[in-house]
Amino acid sequence: MLKGFFSLNYVIPAPPLPTLGVRGTTGLFPIHRIYCVGRNYAAHAREMGHVPEREPPFFFQKNPDSIVPSGGRFPYPGHSQDVHHELEMVVALGGGGRDLAVDQALDCVFGYAVGLDMTRRDLQAQMKQMGRPWEIGKAFEFAAPCSDIVPATECGHPRSGAVWLKVNGELRQRGDLRQMIWSVPEMISYLSALFTLAPGDLIFSGTPAGVAAVRRGDVLHGGVDGIGELKISVV
Ligand code: MN
Repeated sequence: MLKGFFSLNYVIPAPPLPTLGVRGTTGLFPIHRIYCVGRNYAAHAREMGHVPEREPPFFFQKNPDSIVPSGGRFPYPGHSQDVHHELEMVVALGGGGRDLAVDQALDCVFGYAVGLDMTRRDLQAQMKQMGRPWEIGKAFEFAAPCSDIVPATECGHPRSGAVWLKVNGELRQRGDLRQMIWSVPEMISYLSALFTLAPGDLIFSGTPAGVAAVRRGDVLHGGVDGIGELKISVV
């Protein structure tokens, strides 16, 4: 009994807990799950060949251990010739629950960050065509670069602000948080009906138009005005 108290009896090495930094502190934000919302900006839905409508939002997940901190490297993954950037605002939950009402949803937000939903577009397209899950296109290693988290006590709950990405200094993506089809409280409320949300969950909130392929050697520099910036090298 006492032995178990001092060192848990794992039969293999326990995996490290993925974390993100919190801007202005030495504290760490432990990551529980990563949810991503699809097609949340009309212009991006259009460029992907869909008619943007206010249909119920849809979600997919990435693995918490696929986070790459800002300043880090994104190794170009195998089995793809068409890896795309999707710059997104990320919502970091400090609380959670089930069946949260829209008007109480922001109470569980700890803060916000800037993330890249890196996507093996060719594999995602194949899976869509075959009616199969998107995991191989979305949930591969290093697929979720993300900046430090800015607490909402500092940045508030931004509803407007430019969302942008430069590749090698050239503007590639630009939109505004106001263009989101589903607002942050709406997506939290909807998600909480399907999953029990928990402290440590991250929600990638969708990307504006301008997604395109990256190459080894590219420097991706993006931001959400009012929240922060993210810089990643493709290697
Ligand atoms: Mn995305």
